[in-house]
Amino acid sequence: MPETASIHDTIILGSGPAGLTAAIYAARSSCCPLLIAGGQPGGQLTTTTKVDNFPGFAEGVDGPELMQQMDAQARRFGTKFVDGEVTRVELGKAPFKLWLDDRLLECRTLIIATGASPRMLGLPNEWELYGRGVSVCATCDGFFYRDKHVVVVGGGDTAMEEASFLTRFASKVTVVHRRDSLRASAALEQRIRENEKIDFRWETVVNDILGDSQKGVHGVRLRHLTSGKKEDLPCDGLFIAIGHSPNTTLFKNQLDLDEDGYLATRNGTETSTPGIFAAGDVQDPHFRQAITAAGTGCMAALQAERYLESHSG
Ligand code: NAP
Repeated sequence: MPETASIHDTIILGSGPAGLTAAIYAARSSCCPLLIAGGQPGGQLTTTTKVDNFPGFAEGVDGPELMQQMDAQARRFGTKFVDGEVTRVELGKAPFKLWLDDRLLECRTLIIATGASPRMLGLPNEWELYGRGVSVCATCDGFFYRDKHVVVVGGGDTAMEEASFLTRFASKVTVVHRRDSLRASAALEQRIRENEKIDFRWETVVNDILGDSQKGVHGVRLRHLTSGKKEDLPCDGLFIAIGHSPNTTLFKNQLDLDEDGYLATRNGTETSTPGIFAAGDVQDPHFRQAITAAGTGCMAALQAERYLESHSG
């Protein structure tokens, strides 16, 4: 596909499984993709440990290793990478305009794979204590909790993986979950229940984080949802693992979003604007797996290629 000096055939936003798979396919079809890596190069999988369910790895694969391999594969076929984050977009009509700080980039097709970010509890001091006992990433911060007691909030796969990983360091991990059963997969649940370092507080929420920015976290105030009983539980860290929100702020009022803020797609990965496609967690409130993100990344690249073909000349 011919490419003018200033207008790219395809720009891909995001470097998780969706963005990198889109890059592999787009590069192989000569769409000369430019990939803008975003604020977390490699995406969410860089903050996980072992990925056991990505097909092709019978013994599992470390998340960062998987992403490095996808990155290398995308580079092998000629994807150009740019570090940084897009701060402004104009998507009204092609060529689409994007700004990396002051630098203007233009493209004929755009693949949005900006993923999702961890949700927070909404407690008044959680940001003040972020990095001082409050974390959203056990693989990043678990090391600091050797022989300590930590609390994990959430009942999904992420919370169970975080809790399991933290037992490598912590002497005790308490999982606080708002319901009386887990959302996590049966395999993970079994692993967690067999781990003697992990205990549970069911039907319970974190009402307050006890601590200050000088000394860090020294406990959490829990509230049992049915009895209303409150308890101050001493702990050294709080890991929040309650799901994710799609990274779509940039696209509000420019592309259609669904009621939860995900990019609305149809016919595969088409957004409300022809020539713009969305892949991965930014458009997927249901599955949110690495493999489904990769699958939609592939679809987006193929749809972008067809769009370019039908609009060339
Ligand atoms: P999730 O499945 O949406 O689970 C979020 C958990 O947090 C739920 O248990 C939810 O409670 C709880 N929660 C939500 N908001 C809360 C709040 N304000 N206060 C207290 N608790 C709250 O999210 P996830 O665990 O991040 O997983 C996301 C997706 O990634 C899932 O599809 C999951 O299967 C996948 N994933 C897979 C793996 C793996 O296969 N190894 C690993 C990680 C993630 P309720 O249960 O009451 O809703």
